[in-house]
Amino acid sequence: MTSSSLRVADLHVSFGTLEVLRGVDLLVPRGSTTCVIGPSGSGKSTMLRAINQLERPARGDVLLDDVSVIGANPDQLRRRIGMVFQHFNLFAHRSVLDNLVLPLRSVLRLSKEEARERALRYLGDVGLAEKAPYRPSALSGGQRQRVAIARALAMEPEVMLFDEATSALDPELVKGVLGLMTELSASGMTMVVVTHEMGFARSVADQVAFMDHGRVVEVGGPAEVFGAPTSPRLRRFLDQVL
Ligand code: ADP
Ligand code: MG
Repeated sequence: MTSSSLRVADLHVSFGTLEVLRGVDLLVPRGSTTCVIGPSGSGKSTMLRAINQLERPARGDVLLDDVSVIGANPDQLRRRIGMVFQHFNLFAHRSVLDNLVLPLRSVLRLSKEEARERALRYLGDVGLAEKAPYRPSALSGGQRQRVAIARALAMEPEVMLFDEATSALDPELVKGVLGLMTELSASGMTMVVVTHEMGFARSVADQVAFMDHGRVVEVGGPAEVFGAPTSPRLRRFLDQVL
């Protein structure tokens, strides 16, 4: 795995007159996992989308291994940064296998055989090789999310972004997906994980970032952030969620 460091510097994003990111700074060292927590509407999803250039920042920079990716070719960036969404975003009318094969063909330009071989390998890694011929609708939510993760990983990205990957899942399906994310974190992937799963953040994160009103207000190791929060806003947030 060739993971990179990720740096977000003074990132600003507005929607019309609404300034949603108001100067976000974040450094995610290579091979480490940062969990991002914070109230609804604080800008967590917008930050991930801006990292992946699904939103265009008004100001600021996103760097992989200290090289700016702002203005990079979107396909180029898609192969370097994998993203997993709350609602899976799988192609509903394609088989599980095709969900992995199509981007490998169109973005990485692999041959049919190479794409198929790689897709099956990554489906096998998440324990779902036998689901290859089925439509996503034949799978549980947890299995669908594991397919979405396999699809992102099959691109062999340098960084993985997760936006509330378990929020849409029935409680009994959450554990399998978090287990997969825990393995991935331990394997040395550089990860940014927006999550409401405080237990996961506490046990897996190397660093926890608290966002509020479009900024990272506090950042530190999980023991500090959960055990000795300094900002009153973080203390209030933790009182509500813990
Ligand atoms: P979070 O993920 O922390 O809940 P978001 O990044 O989704 O927060 O949203 C932050 C703010 O930006 C919210 O006020 C939301 O309504 C607003 N917002 C997000 N996306 C858009 C958009 N495409 N157009 C207008 N406003 C948006
Ligand atoms: Mg969100």
